[in-house]
Amino acid sequence: MSETIELFSKGPLGTCWYGKYHYMEPWTGCEHSCPYCYARSRKIVLNTLEEKKTQFNRPVPLFPEEELLRRIKEKADSGEIDILKLSRYTDIFTPSFAGNGLSYQVIKTLAESKIRRIIITTKGIPDEQSLQLMEKYKEKFSYNEAVRPSAALNPAPLESLDRGLKKLSDRLDAAARLNAAGVKTTIHLDPMVAGIDDSEEAITAFLDMLRERRLNRVMFSYLLFSSGMMPAMKEAMPAELLKKIMADYDFTGTRSVLPGQEDTASQALKNEAIKASAEKMADALNSRGFEFVLCSLKSVKGFNHNKYKKNMICDGTFYA
Ligand code: SF4
Repeated sequence: MSETIELFSKGPLGTCWYGKYHYMEPWTGCEHSCPYCYARSRKIVLNTLEEKKTQFNRPVPLFPEEELLRRIKEKADSGEIDILKLSRYTDIFTPSFAGNGLSYQVIKTLAESKIRRIIITTKGIPDEQSLQLMEKYKEKFSYNEAVRPSAALNPAPLESLDRGLKKLSDRLDAAARLNAAGVKTTIHLDPMVAGIDDSEEAITAFLDMLRERRLNRVMFSYLLFSSGMMPAMKEAMPAELLKKIMADYDFTGTRSVLPGQEDTASQALKNEAIKASAEKMADALNSRGFEFVLCSLKSVKGFNHNKYKKNMICDGTFYA
């Protein structure tokens, strides 16, 4: 794999259905600067930030604007890409580019291209032009807003984790507008912090917000720790709280998301902790009639999938 970020890259083969799509990274860095972001410590990102003489929280397009859009158009019209995901190492709606119209120009180029499906996952809010564009090309876009349930509480217990993000209600309002317009819209509960995002009060307040907005499709995944994110996590929350959260994690072994790349190594929740939390979440979603899928949870030992409908076991197409 290249040592700096490429504008387009193929999804890694061998995991789930990743091999079926391409990724696009129009810029490096992200102003949301989430403390738990794995991208900030990935070698490929650090190399690109250095090359662009910038920092993670000051994103820079990979090419000057005109060239960027030209390169995107060329590749998008080449016929090589069927499904495109935005993005692995940044957010297409990072505030300054949503604000100056560059995000819009990028997704407009994609929408008007030969690409069949464009999957956007964001923690941001699209600008008005981008919302209208996705409404117009509703068949082409899959829109995914990634949020943490406890952000629905006031005060939010882990507010500092979301300090770079806009208000939860505004983010959900944008998702609801797209959903109502017919864009396939999914709310990702990501990253869930077990013991906090799965508390009764957080789940109830959050799912009420989704229901009020007729947002009925949900996925969830849990916070992973990696050594590269520790400085930002330590800075974002009191040491005692971080210690308490980490006590549920298994630091005895590391799992490498992409084999051969140590900077992708991460630590996950202990099996008992993820099992208890995932069962609680799945029961809460199931009993309230939400559509959701169990993806990485398939590997949780002792998790009883049979309790749920067959279509709740992910076949890799839930939000495609
Ligand atoms: S929005 Fe995504 S890419 Fe941006 S900092 Fe947060 S986790 Fe990283």
